Amino acid sequence: MIRTHIEPCHLHRAEADALNRASGERYTQVAVFHWRTYRTTGHWLSPYGAEKWNDRAHAGQPALLHAHSVDAAQQGFYKACKTARECRRAGLDTHFPYKRKKYRTTSWKTSGMRRTGDTLLLARARGLPPIRITLPDHLQNVLAVREVRLVYARSKRRYFWHIVVENGIPPREAPGANAVAVDLGEVHPAAMSDGHDTVVITCRELRSQRQYTAKRLAILRQRQSACKRGSRLWKRLQRRINRFLHQQAKRTRDMEHKVSREVVNVAVAQEAGTIALGDVRDVADKGKLGKKSNQKVSNWSHGKLRQYITYKAEAEGISTELVSERATSQTCPHCRGRHKPRGRVYTCGRCGFSGRRDGVGAVNILSMRQHGEPGRICPTGTTTYRIPHNVRVLRSPLDTGHVACETQEAAAL
Ligand SMILES: [Zn+2]
Repeated sequence: MIRTHIEPCHLHRAEADALNRASGERYTQVAVFHWRTYRTTGHWLSPYGAEKWNDRAHAGQPALLHAHSVDAAQQGFYKACKTARECRRAGLDTHFPYKRKKYRTTSWKTSGMRRTGDTLLLARARGLPPIRITLPDHLQNVLAVREVRLVYARSKRRYFWHIVVENGIPPREAPGANAVAVDLGEVHPAAMSDGHDTVVITCRELRSQRQYTAKRLAILRQRQSACKRGSRLWKRLQRRINRFLHQQAKRTRDMEHKVSREVVNVAVAQEAGTIALGDVRDVADKGKLGKKSNQKVSNWSHGKLRQYITYKAEAEGISTELVSERATSQTCPHCRGRHKPRGRVYTCGRCGFSGRRDGVGAVNILSMRQHGEPGRICPTGTTTYRIPHNVRVLRSPLDTGHVACETQEAAAL
């Protein structure tokens, strides 16, 4: 399996800065030349042509980066163009990359590095000694190092090595052949059902952190709007905003990883072969929802969670598929009547069925997958709540960071 490990970087700050500045410079040269050519001649340069021009234009100048690190920086621009084109094709209003970059992450591909024992040698330009990284113990036995990146973490204001490795561990055998449905939600990040039992994975902290991000950002932006753009205070506030956003991104990412790990653990416990994920990709396209709901929906990172669940499930041998979640939260699993629930409990006015809203959504997604329509499976088992990340629990010295505590009943409702 290919995995990325983040390791501390002991490179001198000035040295690391110089490398990433050189990468940013090469990227910017290509971007500027590309747009200038397009503006004056109307000709869209090919990646190959732009690279060739750039190499020739800067041949003979003192260099710092290995030729293949330079290539990576230059190709970065055309990769971003490709992404923008794909997004536009998908109907999104995406910019083509146009900004100049002062710094850019430097990367080394396999051709730019060599391994001797427990040391990794990263090549620089001809004539310069290579950079040495001592591989930590847990990376000593990996099959191959695929890529190394020098990344500046804005929240910590330090550099880190991102080491991409092929660790040689094959994916596991699937624990069973069951299908388990996962309903991604905005309040509870995931609810799962195998047709009998329901497991709701709660992480109120996740939503609370998102709301805090929006609130604090609004305050900082308001203060910034009172200063002259580009002034010293404005810049200081901008730095604070950047750092704050990166800190928050790191916090929510951690929680999302814990939630997705819990989802996969539950799927393994329920002997799943397939995870059916409710397809909520178009949830933001349903037109205007109002100020509050709009913020909720746009802050809800279901795509990231889906990605995390997919790759973690893959390692366990479980496949994932997307299932339409149309009407799954509204249909009664007992009598197939339809109504829109308010609050966290679904109560059917026709047959009197009552169940947790998230559980109903999950079981209907399972029904959608098995029978093509919601309301064909009625859950019979219990509902369990699992809390993979809880500030109250984490403060306890007994906590190891990933132990989920279970509550049988409504505590988390
Ligand atoms: Zn009913």
